[in-house]
Amino acid sequence: MKKLICRNCGNAEFEVLNVGETLCKCGRRLTKLSDYQLESSSKWKENQRRRAEIISKISLLKREVDKCLDERDEEGFKKRSFELKLCYHFLDNALKDPQLRLKERIQQNQNKFSF
Ligand SMILES: [Zn+2]
Repeated sequence: MKKLICRNCGNAEFEVLNVGETLCKCGRRLTKLSDYQLESSSKWKENQRRRAEIISKISLLKREVDKCLDERDEEGFKKRSFELKLCYHFLDNALKDPQLRLKERIQQNQNKFSF
């Protein structure tokens, strides 16, 4: 089941005040369903935003790496390739949809079992 979070601060813990009225840690009283948000959808949006940021950073770094190669700037080349590697690492791991990661883990385990 998807968790409900506060629309205001993203927190998922509420104190129940009355029937249909809860108090969030941020001090906001939540009375309507529209005061809440589904956790997964907001996380997904956040991930999409960060993905886009990293992807644009990658294309920038690639250009800079090329420039360093042209100018034979070894120090800059090393630094930027390392940053580039980090960006790819982020894309591969941190920003993946947790559901997708779970699926992959299950597939990996299935591969193990099929040996
Ligand atoms: Zn809140």
